Amino acid sequence: MPAVFIKTFGCQANKSDSERLLGDYLARGFFETQNWREADEIVLNTCSVRQSAEDRVRGFLINLDKYVKETGKKKPKVILTGCMLHFNENELRTLLPEIDEILPISEVGFNQVAIRKDKKNALVPISTGCNSFCTYCIVPFSRGRERSRPLEEIVSEVHSLAREGYKSVTLLGQNVNSFGLEKSGIALRKLYMDKDNFNPSVIPSNQSQYQKPQDTPPFVTLLKKISDIPEIEKITFFTSNPWDFWDELIDEISTNKKIDRFIHLPVQSGSNDILKRMNRGYTRESYLSVINKIRAKVPDVIFGTDIIVGFPGETDKDFNDTLELVKEVGFKVAFVARYSPRPGTASFRLYPDDISAKVKKERWEILDKIANKDNLSNRPLIP
Ligand code: SF4
Repeated sequence: MPAVFIKTFGCQANKSDSERLLGDYLARGFFETQNWREADEIVLNTCSVRQSAEDRVRGFLINLDKYVKETGKKKPKVILTGCMLHFNENELRTLLPEIDEILPISEVGFNQVAIRKDKKNALVPISTGCNSFCTYCIVPFSRGRERSRPLEEIVSEVHSLAREGYKSVTLLGQNVNSFGLEKSGIALRKLYMDKDNFNPSVIPSNQSQYQKPQDTPPFVTLLKKISDIPEIEKITFFTSNPWDFWDELIDEISTNKKIDRFIHLPVQSGSNDILKRMNRGYTRESYLSVINKIRAKVPDVIFGTDIIVGFPGETDKDFNDTLELVKEVGFKVAFVARYSPRPGTASFRLYPDDISAKVKKERWEILDKIANKDNLSNRPLIP
């Protein structure tokens, strides 16, 4: 029986994809090994959010190559999937000559049975891809446009999970708030943000991804249907975005005690100039307005966030605006990252990476200390 080793880099979405990849392998007669030296096939489910994540893939393949040369063993087949697929095939084969096959993440499919190791909380993908085109982000190119799973299919999967004994589920998507709207909603962010067609002068400074639906937003309907499953006691979701966080969703959280009180709401910067250059579609003021609305209706809410420091053009004032916002919100956890230019993104082409590594590090240290002062050892596992 052939053996497969799956190495997952990056976020919960990748972890969930790997669970379904493993399901596919087991269905094809493989067994899983935890030791890559024994594997007949190695799948690298990659992350491209930062250069360091790509460097780790490169490092893994260098080790593999060295091991094969030293032992004379047959080289396992290496399959590359995940976010590094934003590179085209030629680029990938030059960058990582050891790979044998490239597997687009869309081919993993939502329907494949997931093999879950976590027996308490189940990761359940509800959508993949993204239409938001934040200028620094590779996801719209690596995962493609937003695609939601049919609501009934998700609910049916959670019913099965409940029968297996799960009491807790985490719903995953790049922008869970806009679940289902790519089919029925009115898109406000047109594809002028497309990779080869980017024009920063037309970026609206404060715009949701979708027009507010007249009926209940599909994500709220999904939350209600999952909450109706008696065995399910806790529902968490990642990632919410500050846009499309409509009042109906806040109302549902406030009245539905099964929904986790921890809400991860990436802000990325507290400066309106930087937010605009990032194409985040909200302002500092509208972000704080969402936070305050949630807090008013969900008094026990706990917020987490993501922040990038050292984005091109970030002045001391911009950074101070971020510090002030962080103090004002009082996040429980903040994932602070130093800006890393990613080839293929709009910011890579438009803005010189003009903040020195030294300044990025200083800002990172200041912010991390302030944002995570109470919570250095107890962060939830989210990207
Ligand atoms: S919302 Fe922005 S940061 Fe998040 S996945 Fe989409 S493009 Fe990337």
